[in-house]
Amino acid sequence: MEYTFQLAEHFISINGEGQRAGELALFLRFAGCNLRCAWCDTSWACGTDAPHENVTASRIAAIAADAHAHGIHNVTVTGGEPLTQPHITEVFAALSELGMQTEVETNGSIPLQAFCTPHRPSFTMDYKLPSSGMERHMYTENFALLRAQDTVKFVCGSREDVLRAKEIAAQYKPCCPLYLSPVFGKIDPAEMTEIMKEQQMGSFRLQLQLHKIIWDPNQRGV
Ligand code: SF4
Repeated sequence: MEYTFQLAEHFISINGEGQRAGELALFLRFAGCNLRCAWCDTSWACGTDAPHENVTASRIAAIAADAHAHGIHNVTVTGGEPLTQPHITEVFAALSELGMQTEVETNGSIPLQAFCTPHRPSFTMDYKLPSSGMERHMYTENFALLRAQDTVKFVCGSREDVLRAKEIAAQYKPCCPLYLSPVFGKIDPAEMTEIMKEQQMGSFRLQLQLHKIIWDPNQRGV
């Protein structure tokens, strides 16, 4: 039996975040999310009624093979929360067999153990801070599973968020890069830089969402 997955959209663009920021990638956005962050910028893809196509892993592999033939080697799997798609490890296996480098953007609430298979992708894992309203859902056992190729992303909407990110990093000591990303329009990156200096946060990297700088911040499919 072939499982199907709820694919909301797919497109090729610049990776705006994470360790491969600036490189081209095939984006696979899956529908549905188990959280409701206050500042979510993809809320259209979060509900059970989000527009999507039901596609098999073979269909996704065909989309990825076409991208690969056109010089794209990265896949960014995103959402919504892609790890809520049952059997998504089949998709990771298909992408890995094609030789694609797969990065999964996950919201920090889903236990990662089940995805640490021989086809383990790299994870860009959010830790949801107070301004999201979702911090209580964070599954902190995930920190122990992260590796050097992964990323922890702290999306900050306030000074309190930046201070909390510092506290969380000190508590769990993830062994991968730590990114601070300002919520677009909520906190000025210059102010964040000042807080980083004041708080001696030299082990963090400030990262701006490239696609919001290059295109209209509300534009989809870029
Ligand atoms: S986890 Fe991501 S997709 Fe889900 S509500 Fe929060 S920001 Fe939106």
